[in-house]
Amino acid sequence: MIVYKVDRLSRSLLDFARIMEIFDRHQVAVVSVTQQFNTSTPMGRLVLNVLLSFAQFEREIIGERIRDKIAAQRRKGKWAGGTPVLGYDVDRTNRSPRLVVNAAEAQQVAAIFELYLELGSLLPVVEDLESRGWENKSWVTKKGIARGGQAFDKGSLYAMLTNPLYAGRIRHKTALYQGEHPPLVKLDLFERVQALLQRNGRAGTAAIRNSHSTLLKGLLHCQACDRAMVHTFTSRGVKRYRYYTCTHAIRSGRGKCPSGSLPASEIEQLVVRQVRQIAADAGLRAEVLRQARSHLNDALKSLGQEQKALQRELKEHHAAMNRLSGASTKTESSRPPGIGPTTGRRGWR
Ligand SMILES: [Zn+2]
Repeated sequence: MIVYKVDRLSRSLLDFARIMEIFDRHQVAVVSVTQQFNTSTPMGRLVLNVLLSFAQFEREIIGERIRDKIAAQRRKGKWAGGTPVLGYDVDRTNRSPRLVVNAAEAQQVAAIFELYLELGSLLPVVEDLESRGWENKSWVTKKGIARGGQAFDKGSLYAMLTNPLYAGRIRHKTALYQGEHPPLVKLDLFERVQALLQRNGRAGTAAIRNSHSTLLKGLLHCQACDRAMVHTFTSRGVKRYRYYTCTHAIRSGRGKCPSGSLPASEIEQLVVRQVRQIAADAGLRAEVLRQARSHLNDALKSLGQEQKALQRELKEHHAAMNRLSGASTKTESSRPPGIGPTTGRRGWR
């Protein structure tokens, strides 16, 4: 076995040891073109092990240095790289990249923090941003590939609202450091947003806070989109408005769904009224029961038919398999070794 350099074969000492064991068993020696050793001698093996140990040591040291460097940079408040965020551009003209404010985006960021406090939960903010056409940061990578620029969803909005960069800080693991870059949001506003996010829980939806009054939760269905409708909530001033909204509209924009949002209390009252009427009217009650039974019978009947059809199909498949396996036994001698029909037939039975 000839390699250019030992670490071309494997970068891990443990891996290498295993490979060498296999080579040994088959009496294969390893020779490196650029390094002077030959594993056919005990001395050669020792040299190989030393070389590999140093190679691994070197890699680990480099990794540690990079981690130390990032930690030191963050302690100094320097941005240590990562995905660009809305509100800042990355200035790469100096040796270490720097965050500079993008004025137009910075205004959006400040407005989004305010909007969250005003609307009180993530979902209405997502919808609002959708209607404004505001999107996540878009940028071009060093290789010239366009990235980002998607509509906000709850996940990306949450990530944005909890990013300490906006309050002028740099996070390293659990510690925060005063950043070199200018903040886009006042510390007071940032902390009020964190408090509200925490109160709302990770999901931060009004639906969770209002769960006691979401009567039709999980029951309403948007017929046009064939999607579930979920409970949403907006507030204007002190007044709160509850809605049931199609999830298609929430994820892909209101224009995508013809049903849109239904005012929650009205549809709830309507359903409650109808349920009450059914309960009060004996004739109606009997009719509902009769219809339910007939639905059930129809369903049972069609399931029975389906079962019969499936059984018939299964029988046909079995017959086809038997024909095929019979045919392949006859032509066994003409098949290449290794794919004989015996193994296949065992699987078919
Ligand atoms: Zn819909």
